[in-house]
Amino acid sequence: MKFRTVLLFGAPGAGKGTQGKILGTIPHFFHCACGDVFRSLKPDIGIGKVFLEYSSRGQLVPDEPTIQLWHEFIQNSTRSGRFHPEQDTLVLDGIPRNPHQAEIMRNTLDVVSIFYLRCTQIDKLTERLQRRALKENRLDDANIDVIKNRLETYERETKPVLDFYGKQLVHEIDSDQLPAKVLFDILSDIVNV
Ligand code: ADP
Repeated sequence: MKFRTVLLFGAPGAGKGTQGKILGTIPHFFHCACGDVFRSLKPDIGIGKVFLEYSSRGQLVPDEPTIQLWHEFIQNSTRSGRFHPEQDTLVLDGIPRNPHQAEIMRNTLDVVSIFYLRCTQIDKLTERLQRRALKENRLDDANIDVIKNRLETYERETKPVLDFYGKQLVHEIDSDQLPAKVLFDILSDIVNV
């Protein structure tokens, strides 16, 4: 059985996490942010250590351990009754993060919609990330060179995911708007998919 899925897509700092958290509070939606799953791991051993190495340089964690960790998270969430695959829509944020991950997940996800949170001003993204670094103690947001790398990694490796799924699934949302309006735009579409 494939999971009915909507993807939150966009650059680091575009607001995927903010929207995902809200959507996850609505009955029959289950939010999974891949970065949060990584950050919940112990940073000194195993994949948690690998995560820290890559994310602190602004790079993606290798695909196989990423997908495996994601699978385990979904299995645990199903077992513990937080996620009900038959009736819930999965709201994914931060995964798949390149076309290879999308390919690996082809038989697992039934992607019905992609919300592309589009931010045209790089300065605004950078500023949001630096503010978040202070608030959430995130190493990958603290340093301007790492932020630059993250934005470049997004352009080079993540953006092509849009082509993998094709234009007809993509809903462009202006992420420069206030969070409530971004949510309104997402909800207006989500009720129709
Ligand atoms: P943001 O919301 O700013 O885009 P995330 O919290 O989603 O950041 O991700 C933080 C870091 O975690 C990424 O820069 C990357 O190193 C790692 N990461 C998260 N998701 C993935 C993924 N699907 N594949 C590889 N690396 C990932």
